[in-house]
Amino acid sequence: MVTRLYTHPIFLEHITPPGHPERPDRLRAIERVLDDEVFAALDRVQAPEGDEATILYAHPPEFVERVRTAIPDTGIARIDADTTASPKSWQAAVTAIGAANAAVDDVFTGRADNVFVAARPPGHHAEKTTSMGFCLFNTAAIAARYAQKNHGADRVAVVDWDVHHGNGTQDIFWDDPSVLYCSTHQMPLYPGTGAVSETGAGNIVNAPLAPQSGSDVFRDAFLSRILPALDNFAPDLIIISAGFDAHHRDPLAEINLTEDDFDWATGQLLERAGRLSGNRVVSLLEGGYDLQGLAFSVAAHVGRLMKG
Ligand SMILES: [Zn+2]
Repeated sequence: MVTRLYTHPIFLEHITPPGHPERPDRLRAIERVLDDEVFAALDRVQAPEGDEATILYAHPPEFVERVRTAIPDTGIARIDADTTASPKSWQAAVTAIGAANAAVDDVFTGRADNVFVAARPPGHHAEKTTSMGFCLFNTAAIAARYAQKNHGADRVAVVDWDVHHGNGTQDIFWDDPSVLYCSTHQMPLYPGTGAVSETGAGNIVNAPLAPQSGSDVFRDAFLSRILPALDNFAPDLIIISAGFDAHHRDPLAEINLTEDDFDWATGQLLERAGRLSGNRVVSLLEGGYDLQGLAFSVAAHVGRLMKG
């Protein structure tokens, strides 16, 4: 197995206000843990420049221009109560999209079996016409459409285990049965969406978890809801919206997973990818706000991707 890792120094230059949980130190913690010699075989590549035109795969042009004009020349501009932009945020967001799209290229051309993209800002809360929840553009949604437009993928699955529901990804694919969106998330919790009854065109599978749920409840949701949906759908590509804020140390939620659960969930998805999707897995960092919980969880996730 070849596992590729994309990152880029520009991701450290998306600056958020002091005390904001979505901060550059998150990527520094990931970089430190992946420096260990057990990750020596990772194929480390600097993220390429993104193609702004691909943002339009998931967002209308008026919205893209609205975000562009919201980027400040200096300081930090507030987009909503918890979403902000600094002068380099545009370049960071576009490079995150470039990395995700390059990862799709890699798994379809065989340059890599699977890819982890360590980027920020995250993306899964960004709806068609709204930046929110620390997210400017929906990187996972753009990558899914990119696979369809550029690699002939008929069906793409996005599996989202971030502790928050990916309202943005659900919104973008709500009436599009060519993309399956599956999510485990704490409920109630921000952003408030993600009920079992939200099913879109039959392509949305929400598995909400009650506060204080642990490993057993999470794994049961995967085994009973997410994995059967994947088996039925038989995707050509699996994209993981890999947030690690369901870790028990995370300050933003009350789900009690350990890094072993992310190892397990990764293994389950790799097994499906091997059987259904030509091994193609692209994993995109979303949330995860306790630096130690995040680092240990990413190590478990990437270690499992490398084992195949
Ligand atoms: Zn989250």
